[in-house]
Amino acid sequence: MDGETANTPSTSELTPPNRTLMGPGPSDVHPRVLRAMSTPLVGHLDPAFIDLMNEVQELLRYTFRTDNRWTIPVSGTGSAAMEAAIANLVEPGDTMAVPTNGYFGGRMAQMATRAGGTVVEIEAPWGEPLDPDDVERALAKHDPDVFGFVHAETSTGVRQPNVPALTEAAHDNGALVIADTVTSLGGVELRVDEWGIDVAYAGAQKCLSCPPGASPLTLSDEAMERVLARDEPPRSWYLDLSLLEGYWGEARSYHHTAPITNVYALREALRLVAEEGIESRWKRHERLSGALQAGLERMGLEMNAPPSARLPSLNAVRVPEGVNDADICSDLLDRYDLEIASGLGDLAGEIFRIGCMGHSARPENVILTVAALGEALDSAGADVDAAAGVEAVQSALR
Ligand SMILES: *Cc1c(COP(=O)(O)O)cnc(C)c1O
Repeated sequence: MDGETANTPSTSELTPPNRTLMGPGPSDVHPRVLRAMSTPLVGHLDPAFIDLMNEVQELLRYTFRTDNRWTIPVSGTGSAAMEAAIANLVEPGDTMAVPTNGYFGGRMAQMATRAGGTVVEIEAPWGEPLDPDDVERALAKHDPDVFGFVHAETSTGVRQPNVPALTEAAHDNGALVIADTVTSLGGVELRVDEWGIDVAYAGAQKCLSCPPGASPLTLSDEAMERVLARDEPPRSWYLDLSLLEGYWGEARSYHHTAPITNVYALREALRLVAEEGIESRWKRHERLSGALQAGLERMGLEMNAPPSARLPSLNAVRVPEGVNDADICSDLLDRYDLEIASGLGDLAGEIFRIGCMGHSARPENVILTVAALGEALDSAGADVDAAAGVEAVQSALR
């Protein structure tokens, strides 16, 4: 074009498509959260912001079901909160036990290794939960300092049942427990204190339906004591909890500039959780995901996880014979503005991953998802009955 060079930046208005987000995250953001993000900035040490920090911490304790003093949003996405947990708890020479039953257990192992720890694996196939007996045996054999598990494995659609059996086994063997609750916090029953979880981290953009950027983390006093008694500081300055203590603890002094707008957003998202009530919110996710699963099964598809370990917030369903999963996902995006995802790792090409998280977990979205997926699969030649699927969703929601 005339006068245009390779260096001319685009000045067109930002117009992202209006998607329905039913993938593994992010989920649809509630309009109130978007509004909160367009309110004026204050300084990160402004007395008004300090009040707001206290409110966010109180709301996080409510949502995690904990009294932990050490409950904060970490600057960054879920992986930042994950790294804050692992990099502070694992010291060079420590051993951490991690699960092999999904993608995020693998990430735990990588982070523990980078922290200078030795990793031992507790094995279970992708798509299945950990067996408490295997956990007990592995803990007794390897005597790890830290045991990590994934409460809601987003790569496989598996919810780890019977968490207290795992934490009890860990404590009997002197290990602290780190739980990945990224895809359960605010959507799936999670009771940090009652279940004996020492450290839990989460993300904003899954069941909290908040844009990514400030990520929940909670530590018991005992876990924090272990962090503060380290022989050497963690290798990350940014995520060093003994330094972050200065900002989020009593002193309220500068460490790094908090992502103010993300903290506003998180506060509003957590306020929505508290207004709905945490237990009602868990029930809504179960009800909507139950309807989604009923529709998928009635259509002729098969869920991947065993019924006792199905995760309401992430529904993994088998890709039917003769269908290319990536083609279906892009068809749904193009024709319906609907995002779902395909499988990862061991389950690549074998499952669709359909989220049902936070503000996305609404009847209209579940009906759209089942109708659109049914139609797309039918067009691709799969043996499905889309109409029967939609009917099953409607009768489940009645
Ligand atoms: C999404 C996710 C993470 C990582 O969070 P990011 O926000 O992508 O950094 C970690 N664990 C689980 C189980 C997740 O689903």
